[in-house]
Amino acid sequence: MKPEEKQVNYPPYWITSIEDVKQYLEKNAVKGKFSIAGHSAGGREIFVYEYGEKEDLPQTVSFSSAWTARKPELYTRAPERKKLSLFIYGAIHGAEVEGTAGLMNLINLLEHGVDLRGRRNDALLELAEQYRLVIVPLAQPDGRARFTRNSMIGQSLDVFQYYAHGYWKDGTPCKYPYHKEIMPLPVDQMEHLGSYFNDNGVNCQHDDFFGNMQPEVETLIRLVHEERPDCILSTHACEADPGMGFPAACLSEEGLNMAQQIAASVMARQLRENLHPYHRVNLRRPTKGFILQDILFMASGGLPLLYEFPHGCENIPFTHEEIIDLGLTLFEEIMKYGVETRFKNRFF
Ligand SMILES: [Zn+2]
Repeated sequence: MKPEEKQVNYPPYWITSIEDVKQYLEKNAVKGKFSIAGHSAGGREIFVYEYGEKEDLPQTVSFSSAWTARKPELYTRAPERKKLSLFIYGAIHGAEVEGTAGLMNLINLLEHGVDLRGRRNDALLELAEQYRLVIVPLAQPDGRARFTRNSMIGQSLDVFQYYAHGYWKDGTPCKYPYHKEIMPLPVDQMEHLGSYFNDNGVNCQHDDFFGNMQPEVETLIRLVHEERPDCILSTHACEADPGMGFPAACLSEEGLNMAQQIAASVMARQLRENLHPYHRVNLRRPTKGFILQDILFMASGGLPLLYEFPHGCENIPFTHEEIIDLGLTLFEEIMKYGVETRFKNRFF
């Protein structure tokens, strides 16, 4: 049942496994702070790395109350804050580790002044210094543990199917998006549970947010609620070209405009740097319906963004190197936009 996999060597700057990420953060988090934010359905640790001091301003109003009073600044306290706050979480779908790899390079840049390849990136570093950053590199570690590789680079779409979405016991693939028709998936009927799902068989993007909430989702909601970030980025990956998406259910017209402007500048930058051999970087349409990103926005007021990295499977090849550069240019363009606009008008 398990498809044949190609032998691939992972470069040393590609840190994405639970063990490697933990070991790296334990050893290297000096300027920033490493801690355990919570646990997954399967009892695995959820790591968080914080950079820059947390500004603990009093909370005298709920987000809902302040927003409908047309004074969201009473909630965000943006005018009193010294720094912008950016919250980034990766691998809520456990095999989508490309963002994690980029984030570990960003953390190394913050800690040591060079990325994990030993390269300086002063433009990104200077921007990052203007932020408080909260980074959850592996938001759904159960799925990450089931993905026993470190990347999908060079693999067939069968390998992608096996690890990302899984197979039923009768030998049929558990197909995206049809697996969204059952939630949670009956894990006892799976030959191999895909990394999309935590050990309870739940795709956290579509959790039962107001009922039996999953611990990974609870952890993220608590973190963003405490943080009140200006922007929230969720990093995903798929078997297609890279692109940017964003939820639409929660966003105001101006919020949507901002997300589209960011998506356009990320796309332009990545095309300029020839980071996509096909020149077809996608600008995705807003999601119909609502997803975890909407919930995190409502829990915190942070402009929600979603970026799809390419897996670099054999159908659409990318190198590890290119994927790291996609990540670093993505972070830089978002930070640049935030410094220029303070993400200020996202509510109206
Ligand atoms: Zn995803």
